Amino acid sequence: MSASPDSATTPRTARKNQSAPQKALEKLGLTRDIDLALHLPLRYEDETRITRLADAREGDTAQIEAVVTASEVVFRPRRQLLVTVDDGSDTCVLRFFNFYPSQQKALAVGTRIRARGELKSGFMGWTMMHPHCRTAGGELPAALTPVYPTVAGLPQPYLRKAVLSGLARAELANTVPEEIDGQIGPQPFWQLRKSLSFLHHPTPDVSLAQLEDRSHPAWQRLKAEELLAQQLSQLQSRRERDHLRAPVLSSVRKRGVGDFLHEQLLKALPFQLTAAQRRVCEEIATDLARPVPMHRLLQGDVGSGKTVVAALCAAICIGAGWQCALMAPTEILADQHFRKLIGWLEPLGVRVAWLTGSQKKKERTAMLALIESGEAGLVVGTHAVIQEQVQFKKLALAIIDEQHRFGVAQRLALRSKTNGDALEPHMLMMTATPIPRTLAMSYYADLDVSTIDELPPGRSPIVTKVVSEQRRDEVIERIRGQLAQGRQVYWVCPLIEESEALDLTNATQTHADLSEALNDSHVPPLRGSLPPGGAVPDLGRPGDTGAGVMVGLLHSRMPVAEKKAVMALFTSGQMGVLVSTTVIEVGVDVPNASLMVIEHAERFGLSQLHQLRGRVGRGTAASACVLMYSTGDAPRLGETARARLKAMVETSDGFEIARRDLDIRGPGEFLGARQSGAALLRFADLATDSELLAWAKEVAPLMLDQYPELARQHVSRWLGGKTDYLKA
Ligand code: ADP
Ligand code: MG
Repeated sequence: MSASPDSATTPRTARKNQSAPQKALEKLGLTRDIDLALHLPLRYEDETRITRLADAREGDTAQIEAVVTASEVVFRPRRQLLVTVDDGSDTCVLRFFNFYPSQQKALAVGTRIRARGELKSGFMGWTMMHPHCRTAGGELPAALTPVYPTVAGLPQPYLRKAVLSGLARAELANTVPEEIDGQIGPQPFWQLRKSLSFLHHPTPDVSLAQLEDRSHPAWQRLKAEELLAQQLSQLQSRRERDHLRAPVLSSVRKRGVGDFLHEQLLKALPFQLTAAQRRVCEEIATDLARPVPMHRLLQGDVGSGKTVVAALCAAICIGAGWQCALMAPTEILADQHFRKLIGWLEPLGVRVAWLTGSQKKKERTAMLALIESGEAGLVVGTHAVIQEQVQFKKLALAIIDEQHRFGVAQRLALRSKTNGDALEPHMLMMTATPIPRTLAMSYYADLDVSTIDELPPGRSPIVTKVVSEQRRDEVIERIRGQLAQGRQVYWVCPLIEESEALDLTNATQTHADLSEALNDSHVPPLRGSLPPGGAVPDLGRPGDTGAGVMVGLLHSRMPVAEKKAVMALFTSGQMGVLVSTTVIEVGVDVPNASLMVIEHAERFGLSQLHQLRGRVGRGTAASACVLMYSTGDAPRLGETARARLKAMVETSDGFEIARRDLDIRGPGEFLGARQSGAALLRFADLATDSELLAWAKEVAPLMLDQYPELARQHVSRWLGGKTDYLKA
């Protein structure tokens, strides 16, 4: 073998003065020959044969060769060029609505041309709309013409040429040794080189259906190898991790010693753990007692009680004489955790430190000192926890709440906060958006998963209703009813992606409208929102509504102190209604809140809706979630929006929601939202390729054990520089 796959790679990044198409290639990640070779066609065009018009069928996409017999521009019903051609067996009218004079000239009467397009038969005979035309002559290609996925600024012919030369140069020797390839799994596979040359120029006799549904043996090979690369890389990082050392955080009782810290905490809690909580605590405690770093995902539906599990794990860690860090994605959530954990742990003598970006310098300095000296057993905070200045004396456990909200880089950073003596911290990641099993198997092979599959007792189910925006008044009536019973209400306004300002205007307007409606029994129906571009009114403070119902406003642009003040009023029960943009999405815990209204629910993603709904039904009161939708100018809701709202009504089980979300969006997008940066599967589809996944899972350990060099080449070929991300 002349060169290993990665030395055969010529990064084009170094070139200066790149042309626009070169830049576009790079944007697509097509920098190495192998990347180009692995850039596979979306579909194919068949230019290998000429169809006789007399033999054609309605709806065929066909290539004809014919002589132009007439050409005219007509103006009715609109300006268009009509070109009549005759191939000797029949005639056909080519119709162009947009055309250049040069095109018109090329289609002059008497010219012999090839035209490719969809054939329609009407009362005028055959027609083709906007066919692809060229002068006749030249040999017909022997293979189907590939059409590649591309981006603006990268024309198909340029890309085609780049891909084909990449394919010619790429190093494509087999990486899966024959013994393994021959022994295991679905047969027959083609070899990689053969598969790639075939997929880039398939012969015309191939079944297009097999290419399209990717069941062709060439596709099978590519999908299998892609899955193998993913499995190898995860297995590798798992093994690397097994060589690392982590502090042993034993929670096993020694004779003659009093209660451990976590046992004291358990006794002090106002409730009993559920069986599921006890089980996951056991699983985590077992990991923590091992000298290798834990890498575990704790998944549990919203409200399943993950925080107390985190607190107990922190207590095991602190009780063993080490430090624990808990990182949350938003300041509100971090603040809430901080209060809760202080309440639980400080009575037991644990010092809890607090770190956020908005902190005053003096406080921050004091906190940093507590952390550095080791005095603070627990550090709670936002991203601030992973900043460089933060020096832990002896960090042994890092807990990340709502892990899907963090970027991969941030997770890596927390892991690298080692404690000076080459011991890695254990990692516990928590999430309320569970990952369906097939995905977990594929994407988190490097991760152990614990699942809380039951809710604490005494929760009443949340009733979910979908109502049209036109029934806003009824919804407000319902809010009054809840307030009269001493309950609290969330009202969530959607995020309008194009414009944060507009977003605020909406939320602010809704806030004003609701304050008015709820404090005055004879107000007219609510006004709509302000027109786009309207001025953002003064942000009312919660107390402004006087003695009536306090309606608060929370959005991402508010200063942190104000946010906290609003949350505190809502948490303490003084505030009846909290109008908010999606900042409350994750983790907020106010058990007295019993009604959640989501405006423009059709704009939210399914897991986001589920998270939002999880803010209610946390206490014993019967709770409800109202999904208010608006179709805008459309006569009805779009199909996926309807599917999402329907799923919300039909189930409140987070696992079922995740499954449906996966159905609606497909794995790429499903994970994309969660796993920024991770290499996603391009070719394999976990829903249909479970057999190939099983193959990859079986082959990966064999290759790592018996052919480590080939395994390395395989991963490098498929994942290039992206492997780091897979470890996070
Ligand atoms: P999440 O899993 O969504 O983070 P939380 O940890 O915020 O859920 O818990 C939701 C609520 O349930 C909190 O008020 C918490 O104190 C309470 N809780 C947790 N575990 C139990 C339990 N075993 N019994 C009763 N209440 C519990
Ligand atoms: Mg939580």
